[in-house]
Amino acid sequence: MRRGSLSERTVKCGKPGCPCAQDPRARRGPYYSLTRAVGGRTHSRLLTREQAAVVRQQIQAGHRLRARLETYWEDSEARADSQLKEASAVSTEEAEKGGFQPASPTRPFRKSKRS
Ligand SMILES: [Zn+2]
Repeated sequence: MRRGSLSERTVKCGKPGCPCAQDPRARRGPYYSLTRAVGGRTHSRLLTREQAAVVRQQIQAGHRLRARLETYWEDSEARADSQLKEASAVSTEEAEKGGFQPASPTRPFRKSKRS
């Protein structure tokens, strides 16, 4: 599993009269490279066709993990929200028992939406 992206490209050789100048299928390659941003810089590595096939699988595995993690975060945050509801229910109950008034009952909570 790895992060990064795989690119595949073909190049023109530049020789005059060579069919690759007109026909994309006559171009040199394909050349495969793996690029990844590391600390603000882009690292690039050339790969053989065989390596590219392996790297493609590795990157896909990374994407699947990312999708699973995202689901996990959403579930966790839903649970965290219900914990917040429970916490406020308890404190309201305790406040009523003790005759304690919330600091500013008239001011509604501002809903903030983060993503
Ligand atoms: Zn050519």
